[in-house]
Amino acid sequence: MIAEFISVGTEILLGNIVNTNANYLAVKCAELGISNFYQVSVGDNEDRLSQTLNMALSRSDIVILTGGLGPTKDDLTKEVTAKVLQRNLIEDARSKERIMKYFKDRKFDAIPENNWKQALIIEGSLVIDNHNGTAPGLIVKTDESNDVVSHMNPYNNKVIILLPGPPNELIPMFESDIIPFLRKLQPGILYSEMVKICGIGESKAEIMVQDLIEQQTNPTIATYAKNGEVHIRITAAADSEENGKLLVKPLVDELKRRFTTAIYTTDESENLEDVVVSMLAKHHIRLTTAESCTGGLIAGRIVNVPGASAVLGEGFITYSNEAKQKYLKVSAQTLMKYGAVSKETAAEMAQGAASVSESNASLAVTGIAGPDGGTEEKPVGLVYIGCTVNGKIRVKECRLKGNRQKIRDLTVIYALDLLRN
Ligand code: ATP
Ligand code: MG
Repeated sequence: MIAEFISVGTEILLGNIVNTNANYLAVKCAELGISNFYQVSVGDNEDRLSQTLNMALSRSDIVILTGGLGPTKDDLTKEVTAKVLQRNLIEDARSKERIMKYFKDRKFDAIPENNWKQALIIEGSLVIDNHNGTAPGLIVKTDESNDVVSHMNPYNNKVIILLPGPPNELIPMFESDIIPFLRKLQPGILYSEMVKICGIGESKAEIMVQDLIEQQTNPTIATYAKNGEVHIRITAAADSEENGKLLVKPLVDELKRRFTTAIYTTDESENLEDVVVSMLAKHHIRLTTAESCTGGLIAGRIVNVPGASAVLGEGFITYSNEAKQKYLKVSAQTLMKYGAVSKETAAEMAQGAASVSESNASLAVTGIAGPDGGTEEKPVGLVYIGCTVNGKIRVKECRLKGNRQKIRDLTVIYALDLLRN
């Protein structure tokens, strides 16, 4: 089953509103195991909408149109759809009653003339009640069994769904009526799990799963690079969630065997800082950060997590050499001999941060984020991360690629990852 979405509205084309409806429908269809190959936006224009709908019906099984069901002249989705399907618009008694009630409940003396237009439905369609507005939704099936108008059916075996544009109307209708309807069309679900990896580059990770990707049928496996992390999604088509889980499990186990500690979570909703904070909390570790090139980004990421106060004591931003000496007790000799960006300085920053704050853990970074300041010996992207946990110190050297922002963002990831391991 292939679904296509047509978002109707000139405001979308002008960039006045963000097309969140298409985004919502895409997520929902993926969950239902319905493929989505096309998302089209079109203005409130009869000819172009008609062309777009004809095109969609020629290549997709389910066409979902959103917007343009309102009472005004520029709302033409229903009218154009009826024309394309060569069906009439007929008055629906129940919709008429609902509109009357809607305005009566809101103490209107008279119902605006153009609102009656919303009681018209496409002949042979199924009406979806709108509990948050006046425009009903419609489902039109063009299969032969629907004999109302099948003799003049230009498209066979298609489903056309019309929904109002406002998300607060569309979403409840989709949840209560459209999802059950689509479930019947497409039995089964797509079940997926995510494995999140840190500290291994995307191309290396891809090589490590190449054979699994080549063999894939059901479940399928896909890798995504995301800000210095690699996420691997395993998706199975199944008749139930339980069977989906069973299908996905062997592949997740295989990934765990291959990536071992590089996997920081298999919980889709969890991110790296969540894992770090819960690990620190579990071991009753109090952390102090000392940041040079990241300027507080590491502490910021940790503070993103609710409950961070249980683990983060304080964070130093020690950008200058003087600050590194004054607050972290880095020795002038170390700075002179090895430079601010060196494993020795990173180690002293980490040790100093822990000792001055009486924390049992610390994370310190010093590096060259660029674009200036690099030399042949110490190029832009060279970063040292120092980490102490209960007196044990580790220093990691990273050679990162990218612009200033990217290098700083990657440094945060590598630092959190060092602390985690
Ligand atoms: P109305 O009865 O409100 O006129 P409608 O079905 O005719 O509803 P539109 O006129 O196309 O829908 O859009 C009404 C409002 O709904 C827009 O101003 C916008 O706020 C919201 N909306 C429409 N389309 C989308 C979309 N694709 N994504 C997010 N919001 C949308
Ligand atoms: Mg409208």
